[in-house]
Amino acid sequence: MNQPPIHIAIVGAGPSGCYVADALGRKLPGARIDIFDRLPTPFGLVRGGVAPDHQGTKNIAHQFERTLGKEGVRFLGNIAIGREISCDELRAAYDVLVITIGALEDRRLGIPGENLDAVYGSGQFVAWYNGIPDGRDLDPKLDGKSVAIIGNGNVALDIARLLGKTPDELASSDLCAHARAAFASARIEDIWLIGRRGPLEASFTTAELAEFGELSRVATVVDAAALPDSVPDGMADEQRKLAGKNLEVLRAYAVRGEQSERPLRIHFAFNAAPVAIHGESRARELVLERTRSENGKAVPHGETFTIPADTIISAIGYRSKPLPGLPFDIARGIVANEQGRVEPGVYTAGWCKRGPQGVVPANRADSLAVAELILADLATRQASGKRGGALIDSMLAQRGAQPVDFAGWQKINAVEVAAGQGRPREKLTRLDELLAAAQA
Ligand code: NAP
Repeated sequence: MNQPPIHIAIVGAGPSGCYVADALGRKLPGARIDIFDRLPTPFGLVRGGVAPDHQGTKNIAHQFERTLGKEGVRFLGNIAIGREISCDELRAAYDVLVITIGALEDRRLGIPGENLDAVYGSGQFVAWYNGIPDGRDLDPKLDGKSVAIIGNGNVALDIARLLGKTPDELASSDLCAHARAAFASARIEDIWLIGRRGPLEASFTTAELAEFGELSRVATVVDAAALPDSVPDGMADEQRKLAGKNLEVLRAYAVRGEQSERPLRIHFAFNAAPVAIHGESRARELVLERTRSENGKAVPHGETFTIPADTIISAIGYRSKPLPGLPFDIARGIVANEQGRVEPGVYTAGWCKRGPQGVVPANRADSLAVAELILADLATRQASGKRGGALIDSMLAQRGAQPVDFAGWQKINAVEVAAGQGRPREKLTRLDELLAAAQA
């Protein structure tokens, strides 16, 4: 007798979810895999996080499209847990539930003045310029001369680079029209990149750091005296290699001088920990405390200084949002799990499993490991008689939900690409526009 199919639900159609679907689909040819996403569009951070001028990184979406288009796989966009469907309902319908919702909430700085106007988290800011519908109306204040970006990771560099590029340099990107207009009318003269530790401890990568050297209107400002002569022996090999290469780029930036004819300066401020934001109703100044790096830690000096900052963006990492009905590790901001196992039949992978670290290939490795765990657990499973997507479809229909399927996404994609007119695409950024395109 034929075995009934295994029903698998994956919540979150970003890279981690797509990689889990692909791995399980290959090993379980008869399985029925439903991939849900709160948005009508798939691909998570590839669409909504990766910088719009890094189109090469976005090419991976073609592979994910093939996964979503496979026999036995369904995309159900515009369906969120806690909104159209609950965790318990998914548990009841599917043999396996995999949570791959990423980390969407900005970490807080925890300093006075953080709630002033013109202070944004990078998650909010990136969602705005990448056209995620619920971030679309942020309308960040970019009306002053000075912007401070807190954090020394690649997200901080993405934001500084996009603000530093000219409209021509952004022409081949898919930066959304509303953000292009806001960037074009901004009159920013100084961008500060603030690292609470030193240049050796920065987590940004060298290729991204080196891009500032290619921007036509940007002068890079680095205090040569703040750069160590060499990388100390005690560092782990990988960090040592990265620090050495970053140091070379920073040294080159320091000798470029202030390039005083250029209208926009990007200042690299190391060993500067944010302690307060000043301003009346909106941010105007950022107060920093000098630190020194000791055994990889930022030790405060007690000496403070102030920089002008009409806009402040904290790019200091993310947390996942707790999902109703699922155990959550509040301290770490992740779904509570043991190497990807949440509870029998429920798993997690990607940033919501291990925190917001690593580029797409690192998440692939993580997803493959979790898929292996799932396969090992399924090997001892009894037939469950669960109904899978058929049960969920009837619930969604009763509730008047409007799921967007793969064909609907392809229609959205076609509309966006056609509107690109020389750009990779012009994104639809409003929920009603996306749903109308999907249903056209
Ligand atoms: P990240 O690399 O973890 O960087 C976060 C930065 O924030 C660190 O410099 C950290 O300093 C700093 N920070 C944390 N709390 C702070 C506080 N209270 N005050 C001041 N500074 C604070 O994170 P990310 O930039 O958000 O990037 C997330 C992941 O996505 C990374 O793996 C990144 O490589 C990846 N990504 C890659 C690309 C790319 O490849 N082009 C682009 C974007 C993102 P400490 O080190 O001192 O904690």
